[in-house]
Parts: sequence; C-alpha cells; structure tokens
Amino acid sequence: MSDFEAVIGLEVHAQLATRTKIFCGCSTVFGSPPNTQTCPVCLGHPGALPVLNRRAVELAVRGALALGSEVQTHSSFARKNYFYPDLPKGYQISQYDEPLARGGAVQIELEGRPRRIDLTRLHMEEDAGKTIHDGAAGSGGFSHVDLNRAGVPLIEIVSEPELYEPREAYLFLQRIRSILRYTGVCDGNMEQGSMRCDANVSIRPVGQQALGTRTELKNLNSMRNVERALEFEIGRQIEILRGCGQVLQQTVQWDAEAGLTRPMRGKEEAHDYRYFPDPDLPPLELRKAWIEELRLGLPELPAERKRQLMEEHGLTEYEAQILSLEQARVDYYEAVARQSGNAKAAANFVLNDLLREQNAAGDGAEEIPLPAAHLAELIRLVEDGTVSNSVARRNLFGEMYTTGRAPRELVAERGLEQVSDAEALAELVRQVLRDNPEQVDRYRGGKQGVFGFLVGRVMRASEGKANPLVVTELLKKEIG
Ligand code: ADP
Ligand code: MG
Ligand code: ZN
Repeated sequence: MSDFEAVIGLEVHAQLATRTKIFCGCSTVFGSPPNTQTCPVCLGHPGALPVLNRRAVELAVRGALALGSEVQTHSSFARKNYFYPDLPKGYQISQYDEPLARGGAVQIELEGRPRRIDLTRLHMEEDAGKTIHDGAAGSGGFSHVDLNRAGVPLIEIVSEPELYEPREAYLFLQRIRSILRYTGVCDGNMEQGSMRCDANVSIRPVGQQALGTRTELKNLNSMRNVERALEFEIGRQIEILRGCGQVLQQTVQWDAEAGLTRPMRGKEEAHDYRYFPDPDLPPLELRKAWIEELRLGLPELPAERKRQLMEEHGLTEYEAQILSLEQARVDYYEAVARQSGNAKAAANFVLNDLLREQNAAGDGAEEIPLPAAHLAELIRLVEDGTVSNSVARRNLFGEMYTTGRAPRELVAERGLEQVSDAEALAELVRQVLRDNPEQVDRYRGGKQGVFGFLVGRVMRASEGKANPLVVTELLKKEIG
C-alpha cells in the first residue's frame, strides 16, 4: 500500500422522516404490502401533477443546517432521465445545478486525530421503486416491481473526495447518521434502506495531486459493508495498477456474501441523464427568516455533547464518542451520572451492560426500559457496599432491564446482599484453600498471580456475594 493511496468520496441518501411522499399524499410507512401506497402522481400517470411537501423541505433544510451547509434561498428541481422498470415516469425528480444547499463539513476522529471532511452539496430528490428478482437472469424467473417507495423524499449528501481510508468512510457515515437522527431528519436505518450510501473510490501514487479513475460501489446496506467493500475494491484497484493495467470507470456491485465487487455497468456521466428543469415545479424560494427560525430550533449536536461529556464528566474520548452517538443514550447517561453522583460508574454501566442488553434484545436506542433512577440506585448500592459489583452486573442488571423492577426490591427478595462479615466468609476461604493445595504451594513459592485465582474461587463459591476486599484480607491471613 505504501506507494499508492486511496481517495474516497461518498454520496449518502437519507430518507426524510415525513409521513407522506415528496410530491403526493401517499404514505411512506415501511413494510406495507407491495403497491398499496401509490397514486396517479407517484405512478407517473399522464397529466398528474406534483405538489412539493412542505415538511420535506423543512427537514431537508434542518439537515443542511446541522451539517453546516449553506442553505440557498433559491433552488430548483430538474428531471434526471433514465429507463428502469422501477421508475414509472422515466425520470427522477432531483435537483441538479441549483441544489438546496452547498458546502458544510463533518468532523471525524481517527485514532485521536481530528479530521474535517468537507461536503460538496446537499439536494432533495424523490426515491425510485424497488425491483425484486426471482432467481438469476435467464432462469425463467420473474422480476417484481414495488412502487411503495417511489416518490419517498430523500436528501443526497455529497462529500468531497477527502477520505483516505475505509475506516474514515465508516466514521464519516456514523457521524452523518448520528446528526440526522439527533435532528429527526432521518431515522438512519440502513437495513430498511432509509439511509443508503454509494462509495466512489480511486487510487493514485502517493504524492500525485490528480485523482485516479474511480469506480462507484453500490449495494452497501450497512456501515460495516461500506468499510469492507472499500477494503476489497482498493485492493483490487491496486493490483490492477501494479500489473500496469487500467482501472475502468465503472459502477460495481458489492456482494456481501462472497466478499467481493462485480462490475455492473460503465459509469454514466451527467450528460447521459439529459437533465433539464422540471416544468411542473416552480423554483423553490425560501425566506431567510424561515431558515433562521429552523436554525434556532436545532438541538445540541453530537460533537457538542461529546465535548461536554469529556469536560464535565471527565470521560475519555472513546467513551464520549460512543455515548454521544445517540441522543437518547447521552440524555440517559447524563441522568444516571447526575442521580448517582458517579460519572465513571455510570459510563461503565451504560457502555458495557446497557449496550449489551440492548443488542441482545435487538432494541433501538430510543426506548430504554430501565429507568435512569434505577440504574443510579444500583450504582449507589455498589458504592455503599450493599451489593458487590459482580452481583450488580451478573444478577441484577439484566433482570432490571427486562422487568423494569427496582434494584433494592430484587436484592431483598433474592438475598443478594454483599457478605462482608469476616466470620461468615472465613469458612469459605478455608474450604477453597483445602480444595486447591497446589495453587497455595505455588503462591507460597512466589507466584503472585495465583492470588487472583484464589480470590476468584472464593467469589464463585459465594455466588458473587462476598466482599472482595474482605476476602483478600482473609486469604492473606490464612495463607500466612
Ligand atoms: P456522480 O454524480 O456521477 O456520481 P460526482 O462528480 O457528483 O459524480 O461525484 C460523486 C462522488 O464521487 C463525490 O463524493 C466525489 O467526491 C467522488 N469522486 C469524484 N471523483 C472521484 C475520484 N476520482 N476518486 C474518488 N472519489 C471521487
Ligand atoms: Mg454517483
Ligand atoms: Zn402517490
């Protein structure tokens, strides 16, 4: 890799979180039976006229402002012409030479190095429908078209070619997704297709300014896949250049199962689309005062929340990054930290235990069934010695999460109080020493590491309830 470097630019499509489509009143709800959310406008019937959805414009402007882009008071819609069965009008309404917003930037950190990735533009457009193929071409199978998605409002965010590693592309997407979710612009669900990304990548010799020939990667349906596909494609292009071959300007399809990209078609150029102004839609004229009103309505954004976590709670960059990705998560964390008075323990529980439970349950970050007050109480119970840390994590947290019950209640019901009474623990300690004579000899012979093993055995024998400090004292005394 050392003689070549990769250059990456991303095009992110985000579905605006409206109830209805961009140019008609059809519902945008996901998962309905095929073709049940359509009308003459989104089916492209002759004579049907589009009417722009005001809420879609509002969300697009909100997204642009949150990304630091300059919202244009004048923009316009254009027809992008191409033929595909899931595009009933034969053109997609998009914005071309007069986009809704220009510029902007996203901040990412890779291994502690801050990087600013500039944005080229942000524009509004409508989505196409979905084609589903039954089996491979020529197999006699059918292709099906579902137009529920045709006319769903999108913004497309285009980055400058300023990303140099697949990991940076991942972090860029993660940050964009986070910003769009904080602002309620898009739900960011890549599996359901409400956020999609095409990745453009080229290779050039280190030190060269001019960009190499790029390929455009499609079918990247998760952030992890964006990273994997780029890793593969960069390797493929470098191999071609090493062999003195030429990279073709192409659109390639990522096959996640096979872990490779396949050429789809020659990459089209803008002139192939025969863009022209849409005669059915007047230019979009926005009042400055309205834009400013929307700017005032923006919440604190992830970068700001992250900075506060580091400054006010003394968290590490890594902890603050993960906590601030989701607004619901950072709000929850701050409530637990405040109510427990222990910022560090709150971070540990949220980052380890809460995220594990949420992943296991497949829960989104929005609904956290464990009240912040309960987690704060659990932290205090550990601090004042009522329960051991191990019981809190292994026996209490999961049940509190699934049942919503308060920790104090569970501790009383199950008899999970920490045992700190030396007399009660002494017999357990002696038993462990009797059962592990070899380890005791090795410890006496100077193997310090064995001590931790013995503490662990006593903890296990007490079902996690023993106070580890008392156990340590007792072991030292018994071994002599
Ligand atoms: P198109 O609309 O045909 O995909 P654009 O010129 O709008 O083309 O570029 C789309 C994306 O491709 C942008 O994110 C841009 O940064 C990126 N890009 C353009 N040229 C290159 C290149 N040679 N290498 C890597 N990325 C590139
Ligand atoms: Mg493109
Ligand atoms: Zn419709």
